[in-house]
Amino acid sequence: MLLKVLGSSGAEYPGYNPPAFLIDGALLLDAGTIGSKLTAREQLKIRDILITHSHLDHVKGIPFLADNIIINSGKTTITVHGIKETLDSLRRNLLNDTIWPDFTKISAAIEPVLRLKRITAGRRFRVGKFSVRAYPVNHTVPAVGYVLEDDKGRTLLYTGDTGPTSAIWKATEKMDAVIIEVSFPDSMSALAAKTGHMTPSLLVKELAKMKTPPGKVFITHPKPQYIQQIRKELHRIGQANIEMLIDGATYRI
Ligand SMILES: [Zn+2]
Ligand SMILES: [Zn+2]
Repeated sequence: MLLKVLGSSGAEYPGYNPPAFLIDGALLLDAGTIGSKLTAREQLKIRDILITHSHLDHVKGIPFLADNIIINSGKTTITVHGIKETLDSLRRNLLNDTIWPDFTKISAAIEPVLRLKRITAGRRFRVGKFSVRAYPVNHTVPAVGYVLEDDKGRTLLYTGDTGPTSAIWKATEKMDAVIIEVSFPDSMSALAAKTGHMTPSLLVKELAKMKTPPGKVFITHPKPQYIQQIRKELHRIGQANIEMLIDGATYRI
């Protein structure tokens, strides 16, 4: 499984982009950054997007991607998967013919460029060669994390945005890699609790909830303004398999 990080930051700054992870070239986990990081050819290869929640830093690439597909005469339909609340919000607040055209009705071919597909937390579904399951997590809006398994049995868990949570940990066996959010340093734990995010100390507690330790622990969503502090605190945990993701980098899982 090849993981290309289009963005892995909790904000947008030069060199730091909101979360989006391209898996094997065709599947996106979240869509905070797309058009500014992929060529037209790469954008046309995207088939599915798994959205964790409705916040702008996780969906803002979708409207521009849809526009690029049309302009580049792409004949593809991209399926955007999400829980009901997330899809309702996308329809109501983003693809509403006011903020942006409704690309679930616009096409360069017979089918519209975007299709919104509702998923149910806990129920397994297939996306191409991946078996996928979503689990509710603990954020300020309804949100899920995803567990993916490819046809070779490689496994990846992505929390999306969450504070301390439980269902996603109980449900998982050994993961080859997990992508967990750590947005704030420990000194900002009150703000983390209020906004449904994590700190390095909370990360340690979350990892202890897993039945089996994961192979790799990748960190996403740090606020760039506090990245040095977060890095120091993660280093202090003293666990060699914890690594902060780097925007633009590719990882083999
Ligand atoms: Zn969020
Ligand atoms: Zn976020």
